[in-house]
Parts: sequence; structure tokens; C-alpha cells
Amino acid sequence: MKPENEWQQELSPEQYRVLREKGTEPAFRNEYWDNHREGTYFCGACGLPLFSSAAKYDSGTGWPSFSAPIDPENVEATGDTSHGMVRDEVVCARCGSHLGHVFPDGPQPTGDRYCMNSLALKFEEKEG
Ligand SMILES: [Zn+2]
Repeated sequence: MKPENEWQQELSPEQYRVLREKGTEPAFRNEYWDNHREGTYFCGACGLPLFSSAAKYDSGTGWPSFSAPIDPENVEATGDTSHGMVRDEVVCARCGSHLGHVFPDGPQPTGDRYCMNSLALKFEEKEG
């Protein structure tokens, strides 16, 4: 694991607040909630591929939402009962950075709603 002072140097202050301090960006005022382009979303901290645009859907929440990760091995859900809500925090499996939360009210067949922060992701559009 990388020391926090290195993360602080590599990430913008906004990214650092979300990825390393579990911050949440404002709904509808973030980069990817309404992004309908085809491509892949990578971890904003370490570049691990996390979500495909194929699994992205409009949840109406104002945050980018996905029904499933690219590979279940690439994300980890950990219990989080802060703010009096039962929900699972989602972190990058490789670098441990905070990405968002997963809720059990997503579309079928997974029934999962991965509610992510745009600041925690880096989108690359598919070529061609
Ligand atoms: Zn990562």
C-alpha cells in the first residue's frame, strides 16, 4: 500500500478527498453521471479497470451508476454503517481507494446499484 503523503502528491485535492478520505461529490454536478459514451471506467488512483459503459444505467440519482463491475475481483465491498444507513462501501481491490457505495436496489439480473463518484473514476472512450 502506498503511503498517504504520496497519494496526496499524485491526486488533485478533490480526488484525494473522495478516494482517500471517503468524500462524496455533489449529485448532478460531477463529470460522469450523464456520460453516455461507450468505454471503460478505471480507478482514478491506480488505473485498474472497474466498470464498463455496458453496465452503466441511468439511476436518476445524479451519480454514475452501474449494475455490475467489469470483474468482481476488481472491487471490494466493505460494511459501512456511518450516517445511520446500512450500505456497503466499495473500494478498489488493488489500491484500497474509496469509490462509492453499492445498494441492493439495482436493475435485474444483478439487483445491484454501484453508486460511484466521478472523481474516483477515469473514463476512457472506446476507440472506433
Ligand atoms: Zn485503485
